[in-house]
Amino acid sequence: MKAPAANQAFAILKLLREIIEEQTAVEDKLNRITQVIAEQMHADAASCFISIDDNYLELFSAYGFNPDAAHKVSFRVGEGLIGNIAKYCRPLAVKDAPSHPQYVYNKDFGEDAYKSFLGVPLIRRNRSVGVLLIENRTPKEYTAAEQETLETIAMFVADIVTSDEMSEFKKDLIKQRGLITRERIKGLSLSKGYGLGNAVLHRRRHAVSKIIAEDKEKELDRLTAAHKKMNEDLEEKFNSTKLGIGEHMDILDAYLMFARDKGWFQKIADNVMSGLTAEAAIERAYEDMWNRLSATRDNYLKERLHDLRDVADRLHSYLNGDYAENAVAAESDNIVIIAKTMGPAELMDYDYRKIRGLLIEDGTPTMHVAIVAKALNIPVVAKIKGLFEEVNSGDVVAVDGTEGYVYLNPSAEIKRKFKAKIDESVRLQEKLAELRRLPSQTLDGVKIGLSINVGLAFDLDYIQTTNCDGIGLYRTEIPFMAAETMPDVEQQTACYRELMDKAGGKKVIFRSLDVGSDKLLPYWAGLSEENPAIGWRSIRITLDRRAILRKQIRAFLAAAEGRELNVMFPMIADLAEFEEAKETLMIELEREKKFNRPVPLKVNVGLMVEVPSVVFELDEILEKADFISVGTNDLAQFFYACDRGNPRLTERYDVLSAPFLRVMSEIVRKADQHGVYCSVCGEMAGNPIEAMTLIGLGYRNLSASGASFGKVKSMIRSVNVRGISDYVQTLLKSTRKTLRPQLFAYAYDHGIEIY
Ligand code: PEP
Ligand code: MG
Repeated sequence: MKAPAANQAFAILKLLREIIEEQTAVEDKLNRITQVIAEQMHADAASCFISIDDNYLELFSAYGFNPDAAHKVSFRVGEGLIGNIAKYCRPLAVKDAPSHPQYVYNKDFGEDAYKSFLGVPLIRRNRSVGVLLIENRTPKEYTAAEQETLETIAMFVADIVTSDEMSEFKKDLIKQRGLITRERIKGLSLSKGYGLGNAVLHRRRHAVSKIIAEDKEKELDRLTAAHKKMNEDLEEKFNSTKLGIGEHMDILDAYLMFARDKGWFQKIADNVMSGLTAEAAIERAYEDMWNRLSATRDNYLKERLHDLRDVADRLHSYLNGDYAENAVAAESDNIVIIAKTMGPAELMDYDYRKIRGLLIEDGTPTMHVAIVAKALNIPVVAKIKGLFEEVNSGDVVAVDGTEGYVYLNPSAEIKRKFKAKIDESVRLQEKLAELRRLPSQTLDGVKIGLSINVGLAFDLDYIQTTNCDGIGLYRTEIPFMAAETMPDVEQQTACYRELMDKAGGKKVIFRSLDVGSDKLLPYWAGLSEENPAIGWRSIRITLDRRAILRKQIRAFLAAAEGRELNVMFPMIADLAEFEEAKETLMIELEREKKFNRPVPLKVNVGLMVEVPSVVFELDEILEKADFISVGTNDLAQFFYACDRGNPRLTERYDVLSAPFLRVMSEIVRKADQHGVYCSVCGEMAGNPIEAMTLIGLGYRNLSASGASFGKVKSMIRSVNVRGISDYVQTLLKSTRKTLRPQLFAYAYDHGIEIY
């Protein structure tokens, strides 16, 4: 039997769901919702406050004492009882509110009338997006069950508050008030550089919230119009040559197959005529197809499901008008992408040659999309709350990735300054490119091996333009992520062979598939986990699904025919895991030899040091490994127990701190002792001040993104190893939270070039 709170919540949610299905404006729905909550919870009043930005909460809906107060009352986060609920994301029940020490009087709110107060936060992705409250005229002790009920309802209301419909409503509201005064917005710089372009709002597919259509005929008209427009645009796209990297001909082919398919459209139309909204009808048609095709053994047909998903999403976007944003992406040669959050594969939906900037409402420096953007030389600014609501698709946006500023619809003067900055950075790039022919060597003659990290196809150009020593990390998962289906051995071999050919004899380190966490494969469903960063990812997946690893190894072996092959396993947590992976490789090698197939001249097997446990087993591991490479992105996240993807933690810990540097020092010391090649391929190696510190710790091999290569080389050529080593040794004893200011001061005093 359900508990009373669950029963009550269930009954109220049922009523609220009915309201959601109604074809009314979002603010009307919210008003009805507060009314139902008050009535059902026997309260004299109920209201809903919504966060306007990080600082303010505004009353959006009030039922009871003063229903006209909506949009007239606001509280700062942290101000009064309501502001405190939002600030600490905690519910609050007060019997006599006016006598509470944090109570703040607001006459518009009709406060004179009430005594008791029960408020709960509306939470989305660990942060408060508003507050829901009920009030009573007479002093009342709210029960735990009532609080529980209101919290359950709050989950539902949070969905509405964060819906696209509400976002649009908020955006209009802000506009009407002429509140777009944020011409210059401060964010967090994730990738340096300057860019100017038209805004493209990046939307993720959202769940269908309205299921039942009010008016079937109208709904059918909506669907028909969207379908027609989509087909026209697709035809045009197909006939033009303006294809982005995410839109190869074969994908468009598949789109067209479904888009033109009369049966598919008829099925959706039939669903609409049975009473569903167009959105729900598309989903129903997709589910039917999924049920039929997912059981088939025919891989070709199964693959088509993915195409169908894409076409269904595209049709959704035509229904809700998002295609206009896609049109900006297609028509403008300079785009600035604005996303709430983003995975690396989503960035690849756009033509990277046009992207002048990426702005993310959340975001952390080592999130993969930032790494990919950095490799593309795209300036990135993150942690700008509310931006998505503030910007309209097509607006001009200037991005200062160096200082972390964003300018919305900038003045002519600012635009001029940006153009000058962009020219200047082109000149700096040219200057750094001139270092190409010069050795990667310090002032006191110490050679530093400087390689590049490769993931996307365009990274291959960096092999030539940087004149690097090799490829220190080839993230093989990136081509897997960009593909529509799992690449087979032949496709993988061709891809790896092309890379080796382009490397022209330089050392290439292939990393085995490192998926999971934020690197998801579009064709692999069901990987959602509570703690993906420490979940079933990377080598854990490929050891469990050994066929994937074996196939990849076969492709490595074939691609490296007659050449040296270096294979590196990611996320190794202990010696046994490394041995198991290495053995898999050796078995495949023997198998190839047995069948007289061509094999590499030499095979080196290494691992990434990115799980702290291996540091404590390093002596034993170094006996078995041919090389190691330190993945500082993951190592730091596990070392500090600090999710690299969580924006709230971005600036909490610094890799430039004694504890982390001591671990780094220990790793290179042990590797040197064992005579094992050791490099760093995490983001530290591509950040000049951090790379300088690594050299001070004894690292002699670094692998950075192609885009940061020149800056790191410039630092190397201006540093003195003896000096920085002595200085870093003194810092290892420091108890400061961060040593960054000291290291910057050192670089400045010693003329070390840190761009
Ligand atoms: C790392 O973890 O430092 C690393 C290089 O791997 P990735 O960023 O791809 O996880
Ligand atoms: Mg890693």
